[in-house]
Amino acid sequence: MADLVIRDLRVAVDDREILKGVNLEVNRGEFHAVMGPNGSGKSTLAMTLMGHPKYEVVGGEVLFKGENILEMSPDERAKLGLFLAFQYPMEIEGVALAQFLWSAIKARSDNPDALKGKALLDFRKDLEKALEVVKLPPEFADRYLNVNFSGGEKKRTEIAQLLTLRPEIAILDETDSGLDIDSVRIVAEAVKSLKGPDFGALIITHYQRILNYLEPDYVHVMVDGRIVKSGGPELAHMLEEKGYDWILQEVGVA
Ligand code: ADP
Ligand code: MG
Repeated sequence: MADLVIRDLRVAVDDREILKGVNLEVNRGEFHAVMGPNGSGKSTLAMTLMGHPKYEVVGGEVLFKGENILEMSPDERAKLGLFLAFQYPMEIEGVALAQFLWSAIKARSDNPDALKGKALLDFRKDLEKALEVVKLPPEFADRYLNVNFSGGEKKRTEIAQLLTLRPEIAILDETDSGLDIDSVRIVAEAVKSLKGPDFGALIITHYQRILNYLEPDYVHVMVDGRIVKSGGPELAHMLEEKGYDWILQEVGVA
């Protein structure tokens, strides 16, 4: 069985069905891109996978490492190895990035009391390194999370979190939106460097640019709450060239 299995997932927001039967399997070692027009349900999928309470699962199942995660809290999902980089990262006044991440690391530990001294120093070094990789100054570790960060800084902070937490499957929701060309390359190369037997990702994007660096193994197109087409990297190139109209016609939506 795949590491992450999404079967016939149906999700409603405010009693309106947004996801209408999504099927997708993601393994560590694989990069999957999810593309699709605005409003097709991509962020709804991401938020549902992390367990945001606003997104009500009305059908289907999601298994991660063989466990049904739909019954789990977001913390439990993170502990199991899932991570979401938000399309719109939240600002958290009063909580510094380092503090936030350290809490996350403690929350997923089986023995949080033992996490001090050397473990804390190692964590500070990991975070410093991660900030350096995404080209944010070290002061960002002690600034309130995302408060007064520019759009690009927020996105790079999400990737610094990813690099520090080292999840098994990461979901990146339009991490490239709002980044300049150099920043897209920097974050994409950072994510690419994690790819391997212990790490896979679901990359939601509108643009080929980030995919040039990430080189996804699979590309999926979501339309109106369903994945209507899947293929290899060539599918993303076709979308870049021709837009979505031909797919909408093919699936009879337009
Ligand atoms: P995408 O990420 O593909 O652009 P979304 O998943 O954000 O699409 O949105 C799909 C639909 O669900 C849209 O009609 C959007 O208005 C609705 N939706 C998503 N999240 C919420 C929310 N938190 N509250 C109300 N409506 C939402
Ligand atoms: Mg979205």
